[in-house]
Amino acid sequence: MSNTATPMMAQFLEIKAQYPDALLFYRMGDFYEMFFDDAVAAAAALDIALTKRGKHEGKDIAMCGVPQHAAEGYLLTLIRKGFRVAVCDQMESPAEAKKRGYKAVVKREVVRLVTPGTLTEDTLLDARRHNYLAAYAQVRDAGAYAWLDLSTGELHVARCPLVTLGPMLARTGPREVLVVEGEVPPALDEDPAVVTPLGRASFDSEAARTRLETLYGTGSLDGFGQFDRAELAALGALIDYVDITQKGRLPLIRPPVQEHQGAAMQIDAATRRNLELTHALSGGREGSLLTAIDRTVTGAGARLLETRLCAPSTDLETIRGRLDAVQAFVEDRTLSADLREALRQAPDMDRALTRLALDRGGPRDLAAIRNGLRAGERVAHALSGELPDQVAQAARALATLPDCADLLNAALVAEPPLLKRDGGFVAEGVDVDLDEARTLRDEGRGVIASMQAKYAEIAGITALKIKHNNVLGYFIETTATHAEKMLSAPLSDTFIHRQTTANAVRFTTVELSELETRILNAGARTLELELEQFARMREAVLADGAAINTAARALAELDVATGLAELAVDSDWTRPVLDMSRSFAIVGGRHPVVERALRRQGGPEFIPNDCDLSAEGDEAARIVLLTGPNMAGKSTWLRQNAIIALLAQIGAFVPAASAHIGLVDQLFSRVGAADDLARGRSTFMVEMVETAAILNRAGPRALVILDEIGRGTATYDGLSIAWAVMEHLHDVNGARALFATHYHEMTALSGKLDGVSNATVAVREWEGNVVFLHEVREGAADRSYGVQVARLAGLPAAVVERARSVLDILEKGEREQGGKTKTLIDDLPLFAVPAPAPQPAKTESRVESRLADILPDGLSPREALDLIYELKGLM
Ligand code: ADP
Repeated sequence: MSNTATPMMAQFLEIKAQYPDALLFYRMGDFYEMFFDDAVAAAAALDIALTKRGKHEGKDIAMCGVPQHAAEGYLLTLIRKGFRVAVCDQMESPAEAKKRGYKAVVKREVVRLVTPGTLTEDTLLDARRHNYLAAYAQVRDAGAYAWLDLSTGELHVARCPLVTLGPMLARTGPREVLVVEGEVPPALDEDPAVVTPLGRASFDSEAARTRLETLYGTGSLDGFGQFDRAELAALGALIDYVDITQKGRLPLIRPPVQEHQGAAMQIDAATRRNLELTHALSGGREGSLLTAIDRTVTGAGARLLETRLCAPSTDLETIRGRLDAVQAFVEDRTLSADLREALRQAPDMDRALTRLALDRGGPRDLAAIRNGLRAGERVAHALSGELPDQVAQAARALATLPDCADLLNAALVAEPPLLKRDGGFVAEGVDVDLDEARTLRDEGRGVIASMQAKYAEIAGITALKIKHNNVLGYFIETTATHAEKMLSAPLSDTFIHRQTTANAVRFTTVELSELETRILNAGARTLELELEQFARMREAVLADGAAINTAARALAELDVATGLAELAVDSDWTRPVLDMSRSFAIVGGRHPVVERALRRQGGPEFIPNDCDLSAEGDEAARIVLLTGPNMAGKSTWLRQNAIIALLAQIGAFVPAASAHIGLVDQLFSRVGAADDLARGRSTFMVEMVETAAILNRAGPRALVILDEIGRGTATYDGLSIAWAVMEHLHDVNGARALFATHYHEMTALSGKLDGVSNATVAVREWEGNVVFLHEVREGAADRSYGVQVARLAGLPAAVVERARSVLDILEKGEREQGGKTKTLIDDLPLFAVPAPAPQPAKTESRVESRLADILPDGLSPREALDLIYELKGLM
């Protein structure tokens, strides 16, 4: 064969050249085929057979294919594995192509580019999670981050300096992020999102303005907010990409919601991970805080709850509004139960609407809108009397049905089929012509049945049947034994031979084929009229798009509020008090996830604990230093207090007997490196970088929890770092903080720093064993109980015994040397107030002299780290 490609291959290559970064799903009849490298990659990813088809430039062409009817499943697998797929369909039938010429290739076009961030099908999406496409743009020094859930049309934008991109990614968890080609921000290196580089033109802020104005049909964007150039660029890139991937069809994208700086509690990626907000440390969702508090019954409700949990509010008004709603449902259980019953019937209107807008929707999407609006009506009906603002607002949004509701109620059957081409979704009595065409079609089918009896009689063959297949249409069939009789006069005058198979002969008659034409015509006419009705309903729904979104949002709000109310009642949670004070007073607090786990395992009851970090006026912020043996419950207590603050600010009740919290605007949580081994990095380095981030950023309204900071290195290093960190938090940051450590030496800090107090988790020693009481009390742990814990863990008895005697010797030695610990503390060069009398005989070590030159506040985290390494080098 020559080296020139066949016409079909030429077409393939031409289309493929436009989508170098995507797998090309090339439609051939009932299959989507992939060729060349695409085929190799897809066959491996999908675990399907790789074959060959012809040659190109002398080499075999690799090929694999998936059946069109099952394409969605394969698409899902590919998208999950991070591929993009360009779906290329046939735009005409082979017959039509032939008309253009003997060798003409069927016209094909890419109708859609499927990417992780632009999915809309229910089968490709998780109903209870958002699927975000994000864009990051930078114009001069300003950065902006925009995120869009194409499947629901929700669009957000926020100013976002490069340093806060990481936290933003952690908060929104996008599937795909658009960035300027060649300028991938470092924060994306570790993010699981697929990074899609676009040309600079996609990020042009002026073009963006025009794109947005066209999209919303407005002459100006002022009505939506004041956007800077970076924000416009990020928004513009999203819209441009949607346009590219959806091939010009734009879904109903809602006006951008601009998020103001500080509107949400700042929580960085490490804190999210440590507190296991949406994923447990093991990676799954089970065991996360979200799973423990999620009682929502709709997909939209679940998505809203997750959005809130990922970005707790810092606006008292907003929080109180949400708490009022939850309280109303806590107080009226019957109402809450009624609403939840109605909500269970509410389908996902937002996603159905998007599919309809993209012309990818079917009759079930129309039904979703209808049923959703009906559920809303029932909900509105149940809500009456005195209601908190948020609930009243939701009730109002649901009470007035948009215009399309009447049409859908009248025109759509109760349970329509999935695909519009299956027909049968338009109710009777909607369209006279349609009803007529249907009668004709159905009668025709009846007539055929009677024809069979007639022909059997004429032919005198009882085994004569009228059948139907896609190739012949209707035909008369007899067994081969009757063939001769049928093929000869007089029967051959009536029966026209069509086909002979192994066991049967097939005929038609003039009458039968005329009837068939009539039935076919009536069938085609029925479908045509149904499609017209579909278009009419779709138009009506799209015209009411905004009202439907509002109704869907109201249902989601009520789902979240009633869900949180149910949780509060079942788990005995209370309404927190929030204000602008510097309080942090929790009485009888619990950890919702640990408590749930204990209960599930049938373990002991969770022991509630208090926590008070409140400061007044000019008082130094309070820091509690917690000591106690391993397994006593230190981490649990630390985390539960952070979680209580977080829950309070999403507007939920909290697991405590009472909680008074002065608004928290930043939440930091760090765990010492030893707990972080699973991540397999230079863990101490990570720990220090993260700690540096806290010290540099935490403000007076921050809540900081530090668990065993400094333990990733040698004891004295670790102790000195922990010590210095604590002083900095106290003196410079002024943040409320909880600090768990096993360095008992640090308890001496409470005597030196005003705001620091000691607490310990109580244990009892009983016959050489430790008994964990899990009670947090004032004071310091008297000893570490490490040996006892080791024994509990099953260390061989001989080792435990030996450890005990070594410990005795060490402890004894310490006492006899006149308190080595005390000497250590007084020696520590990191004291804010240096120990008064340096020991005369001692000369300054190199480490000490280097340290003496340092001004810690002037150091960047990076410099601090380098310094630590330098100091270690000096030892
Ligand atoms: P530490 O940080 O002191 O090593 P953890 O906080 O990890 O200890 O707690 C260890 C275990 O003790 C937890 O997994 C939990 O089962 C139990 N525990 C912790 N706090 C409590 C509590 N308040 N009531 C009951 N059990 C608790």
